[in-house]
Amino acid sequence: MGRTIAKCIQCRQEREIVSFGLCAMCLMASRRAAEPLSAQRECNRMRARFSRILELLDDADTTHVVLSAEDCSLVKNIIIRTLELIGRRQSKQLES
Ligand SMILES: [Zn+2]
Repeated sequence: MGRTIAKCIQCRQEREIVSFGLCAMCLMASRRAAEPLSAQRECNRMRARFSRILELLDDADTTHVVLSAEDCSLVKNIIIRTLELIGRRQSKQLES
């Protein structure tokens, strides 16, 4: 079965149309962009939230009366680990 050569609705080039009126290149690009973009945004949101917690903990550093220095660094380490996990997840998404 021969493929249709037509103007791709995305790049406007005369190309082989794979599906949805898109050439292979644009179809791949849109697939890459569509899903991971929302996942990327979710990661960015999570990263921002955990970074904020880290900031807040830094601000609270002087109130060892409430939170001991040990506990504070314990919580910080957990948050830092979480941030690293988010970073790893995000770079994995960029690869795929
Ligand atoms: Zn195209």
